[in-house]
Amino acid sequence: MPLSVKRKSRWNWQTLLPWAVGTLPLLCGLAIMQWQIERELRASSQATTQQVVRYVEHILDSLSTASQALLPLAGKPCNEVVLALREQVTRNAFVRSTNLSQDNNLYCSSLFGDYQEPVVDSDYVAGRLWLMDGNSVTPGHPLLVLRTGNGAAGAIATVDGDHLITALRLIGDDEVLQLQVGTHWMDREGVVHRGVPPPAASAPTLLTSARYPFTIQGGYPEGKAHQVLHSHYPALLSLLLGLGLAAGVACRWQLRRASSPRAELDRALEADEFLPYFQPVVRKGDYRWAGAEVLMRWQHPREGLVRPDLFIPYAEHSGQIVAMTRALMLHTAQGLAPYAALMEDGFHIGINITADHCRDLSLLDDCQTFLQHFPSGRVVLTLELTERKLIEATPVTLELFEKLHDMGVMIALDDFGTGQSSLNYLRQFKVDYLKIDQSFVALIGSDALSQHILDSIIELSGKLNLGIVAEGVETEVQRDYLARHQVDFQQGYLYARPMPLADFLHALAAPPAASGLPQVTPTAIMPG
Ligand code: C2E
Ligand code: CA
Ligand code: CA
Repeated sequence: MPLSVKRKSRWNWQTLLPWAVGTLPLLCGLAIMQWQIERELRASSQATTQQVVRYVEHILDSLSTASQALLPLAGKPCNEVVLALREQVTRNAFVRSTNLSQDNNLYCSSLFGDYQEPVVDSDYVAGRLWLMDGNSVTPGHPLLVLRTGNGAAGAIATVDGDHLITALRLIGDDEVLQLQVGTHWMDREGVVHRGVPPPAASAPTLLTSARYPFTIQGGYPEGKAHQVLHSHYPALLSLLLGLGLAAGVACRWQLRRASSPRAELDRALEADEFLPYFQPVVRKGDYRWAGAEVLMRWQHPREGLVRPDLFIPYAEHSGQIVAMTRALMLHTAQGLAPYAALMEDGFHIGINITADHCRDLSLLDDCQTFLQHFPSGRVVLTLELTERKLIEATPVTLELFEKLHDMGVMIALDDFGTGQSSLNYLRQFKVDYLKIDQSFVALIGSDALSQHILDSIIELSGKLNLGIVAEGVETEVQRDYLARHQVDFQQGYLYARPMPLADFLHALAAPPAASGLPQVTPTAIMPG
């Protein structure tokens, strides 16, 4: 039912939606920032790799210059050229050693002078470059060797691995940089490995020199993007978190508001979903309809027809009942007025009113508007006030009831016997009828003691000169008992259940039957 408290599962869409709305800006923001950071890292990694390639090319250019200068000396006796070899080492900052070869035999070295060592062609990538992980002078220490010339005459220059390590470490201090020459590669610690270097976890870049056969591989280690996010964008990150939180809270608030019983009742009022149902009240003797009580029903779009005890208590508590009653009265008047001819003069229409509606004089206007729909004297408006919630006797309420009385509006005290109204109360509020609660009518036929209560109520109303209506008459035994005790009016399922306007009008228009329908037969007045 619309306003009944259902135990909701912990994870329904109403709890999940605020989380989704809250995390959406955060996730979108993070995705954009991530994309931006990836772009920055890729650009920075490419720039660094390019710089390292240029630096290594610059070193190799030095080696190439020294080799080119020495190449014409290849083939000459070592003792004649060794000084020239050493001169190149001295002159050139990057050159660690120079060597000459003849017929693939290294015969002269700047370090040792005369020397004999075979030159293996396959050691050199493209016949030119060799990344060694050490030699006999510095074993385990990297060395890059550049060979110039051909098999017959050659000049070989080497550069110490430290220069390369410096390039790999200093140019991109927080990057993963590796130098690859053929099947060997060197990491930034100066360790030479065989095979292919593993690509960097973030923004991997590969750049091959156009002038020498080597490649530089760059990129960033795992978690770099995360680190940049925290160090470069703390303000933006806080803003996103704040926005997400605000969006989530706003969504939750909106959902709560929209799904609150108050909002649901407001919506229903706006959509005109509260309908009048009519239950006839029959008079003693001929049991013909003397009037009808208007009972509110909620035509809910999903739940169907909703009983009043499921929403009236909340509407009374929230104060919305006043607007709902006003709408119901208007609905009733507009629905009945075109068929006023079907009702005999003085036909009672009972409307249930709550104490809240009596706090000011607005009820007078509501009653006035209601009565204006009908020819004078055709309808007697009866306001039913429950005895369970008594109205306070303030100057305003007393004035209200005084004026209602003057207008000819009658007052019925509903559910009589269940509350504690005093004689003074009945007099102050000018009560005209007592409606005996159905729980007392249900006592008829039970043990003598309980039934005595009902008899006392009937007797009291007679003494007070008040009209009496018995509610909840369901059996013929109850009907006959009440008739014997001179109860003026009866209402209950025995006669009719509450019915929609169309059925009520049909029944009003039908010829009188044994059940005691009114003796009005203008079926022709009914539309269709
Ligand atoms: P109530 O004013 O005492 O209305 C009589 C209730 O008894 C109605 O229930 C009616 O359908 C039911 N009734 C009638 N004859 C019999 C019968 O023979 N046997 C049984 N068992 N029940 C019978 P309903 O329509 O469900 O209304 C329940 C209560 O909701 C009403 O009690 C009234 O207090 C409240 N209510 C209904 N409409 C309105 C309204 O427009 N405004 C306000 N403030 N309260 C309303
Ligand atoms: Ca009532
Ligand atoms: Ca009642």
